[in-house]
Amino acid sequence: MLPMGGRMQDWPLTVDRLLDGAAQWHGATEIVTRYPDGSVFRSSYADLALRARLVSQALRKAGVGQGDVIATLASNSLDHLAVWYGVMGIGAVCHTLNPRLHDDQLAYIANHAGDRWLFADGMLVAQAGRIAARAPGIGTIVTINDPRSGGFGEYPHLDEFIVGCDGADCAWGGFDERLTAGLCYTSGTTGDPKGVAYTHRSNTLHAMNTMAPDAFALSARDVIMPVVPMYHANTWGLAFSGPAVGAKLVMPGPQLDGGSLHALIEAEGVTFAAGVPTVWQGYVDHLRERGIARTSMQRVVVGGSACPASLIAALEALGTTVIHAWGMTELSPVGLVATPTPSVLALSTDEQREQALKQGRPIGIDARIVDESGRALSRDGSAVGHLEVRGPGVIERYVGHAHSALSDDGWFDTGDIASIDRHGYVRITDRAKDIIKSGGEWISSVDVENALLTHPDVALAAVIGIAHDKWGERPKLYVQLRPSLDEGDGRDLAQVFRDYLAARIARWWVPDEVEIIGTIPIGATGKIDKKALRALHEAGSQPAY
Ligand code: AMP
Repeated sequence: MLPMGGRMQDWPLTVDRLLDGAAQWHGATEIVTRYPDGSVFRSSYADLALRARLVSQALRKAGVGQGDVIATLASNSLDHLAVWYGVMGIGAVCHTLNPRLHDDQLAYIANHAGDRWLFADGMLVAQAGRIAARAPGIGTIVTINDPRSGGFGEYPHLDEFIVGCDGADCAWGGFDERLTAGLCYTSGTTGDPKGVAYTHRSNTLHAMNTMAPDAFALSARDVIMPVVPMYHANTWGLAFSGPAVGAKLVMPGPQLDGGSLHALIEAEGVTFAAGVPTVWQGYVDHLRERGIARTSMQRVVVGGSACPASLIAALEALGTTVIHAWGMTELSPVGLVATPTPSVLALSTDEQREQALKQGRPIGIDARIVDESGRALSRDGSAVGHLEVRGPGVIERYVGHAHSALSDDGWFDTGDIASIDRHGYVRITDRAKDIIKSGGEWISSVDVENALLTHPDVALAAVIGIAHDKWGERPKLYVQLRPSLDEGDGRDLAQVFRDYLAARIARWWVPDEVEIIGTIPIGATGKIDKKALRALHEAGSQPAY
């Protein structure tokens, strides 16, 4: 038997350690913020750690303590990071509000979470005021970001809020790693939004998992640009993993159009970025229109919704390796990453391309697919079932819920439908609520969309299920054309698209109805809003072609 006494240090996994480490060992490494007016502000990890401590000290002076909920309404910036770490460092909870949500939803979320303070971008003060008016718990609004632009009305700027603070005697951490650090609400496409509380421990473990070579392979040599907002599922962990490796950070602010992203990527030498497919589609379209054939960006994580083959091809042609990833608000949030195993690298080039379209293999989680009765299905690539996950970065219960969100045997149902192949790659075929059941068989809307997106005239495609007397449901296709295309060029585009699909997918999957619309609705996190499309269909919109 081992004699008593030998052990490792009990070092709580609290996120303040990540920023302190970055300030200690990469203090001069830059954090670049682009303000809404396009100007660039340069700072460093040493500056960030100090600014965050000043925020902590000012909050403490104002009576904020452990467990208090402090909201932000802001784009990605140095100030947002300072508030994020300043709040978490003292054991308070940083609740990131998504400015793209409707006032009603934001007021509901702020009240539900018990938000007490609100730090808002200067350009969002009107919205912040409206939320505070309906969420009486919010006593104070502080504006952040570009102090030169002024015009913040009655609210103080962060620079004023921290006046008189020096960062001394402001210890961070020293509490249980299971304390809540951050809070995000689900997008609420079914029912009210639900709160997901991330702990210091889950954030730290997630950062460690995602920076590994089989995930994002992050290092101090990277220049990381989190295009995914800090309010979308925890910035996919980048606000933690970036400091954890000491990489230069480029915070793009609110302008996420293709031209703005490209300019920043080239000016700052961004090597790694992450965002949803619609953002990267705008980026590759911008480059294509200008005949730009090469960029400095080495790797890009695309996730949040399925990454189309056409987008992967366009990014790879620019010299950027695409890392397809899957995650959700209910995780910390990344759970699957499509980085190859030796068995995948042994496949033919075409087969490897097919693998890259899948969402990938588990990183820091355990995953399985089950049938309707909860029976685990085999990993043969063809069995399709409900994707369930578990792990230290997976939700146990939603904020304010008395009951667990897990099955009796401890798994969380993601609401996604998937298969798992012999390489361990998960392929998401649909959200359970988006799945189309035609004549008793499932049609994958993702597969139909992917097939059409390779057509040169198509900018965006979305398939929904619509009621059908004989088949129960049939797919309906919505298409947004490329801007350069003349809609009135005389072709029957609906038929063109149906013929194109018939050559690529099972005939009975080809949508009977095709509608070409000016703009496909995009939801608050940059994903196609199928709920809005279903409403559009129900409102009786007629096919344009
Ligand atoms: P959210 O919580 O808003 O990030 O949404 C999570 C959901 O987005 C997941 O349950 C999936 O349905 C979807 N999702 C995320 N990443 C992917 C991906 N790479 N491919 C397909 N769907 C995805």
